[in-house]
Amino acid sequence: MPKGRLLIISGPSGAGKGTLVDRLVERVPEAWVSVSATTRRPRPGEVDGVDYRFMSAAEFQRHVDAGDFLEWAEVHGNRYGTLRQDVEQKIAEGRLVVLEIDPQGAEQVRRLVDDAVCVFVVAPSFDELERRIRKRGAESDEEIAKRLETAKRELRLVGTYDYVVQNDDVARATDELVGIAESLLGRRS
Ligand code: 5GP
Repeated sequence: MPKGRLLIISGPSGAGKGTLVDRLVERVPEAWVSVSATTRRPRPGEVDGVDYRFMSAAEFQRHVDAGDFLEWAEVHGNRYGTLRQDVEQKIAEGRLVVLEIDPQGAEQVRRLVDDAVCVFVVAPSFDELERRIRKRGAESDEEIAKRLETAKRELRLVGTYDYVVQNDDVARATDELVGIAESLLGRRS
């Protein structure tokens, strides 16, 4: 059976990673998106087991202690992590495993998996990033400020990634991401 590959989609909160990943999965049948664990509270409309595996701090810590996470990080005061088991199984099945994770997590995975490909998604400008985070309406002003501070730090890492995709237009950015995925799978797009 062919061994699958890992595609990491990272970048600041609000850049539109989630939308691009959803579109990617619609277009590339081999793609499988890992559902992360988090201690963050669900936003309205988010479904446990679909958007995230929502868990208490104690449950998350049990997984940390048991070594269940491929990577985990604290982001904006909450913990997020990728559970190792499903990812390893899907890789063994030859799937293109997509991780939508923050740059701290991306760094951890890159150290573990030599041939992981890392994509950094950016909004067209910092003002636009702020506008997108505010439009989502999910966070308080304090949380928004925290996310913007984190974004400034994260943007400095852009040069360490294999690809940078500017999410100025969702259709165009999706095409670019699909092209990256196809080349990873050894196909021409
Ligand atoms: P949000 O709370 O907006 O859903 O996500 C906040 C940040 O956490 C985003 O940058 C998102 O990519 C990141 N994130 C989501 N899941 C994981 C994960 O499993 N590991 C890491 N390191 N970051 C994650």
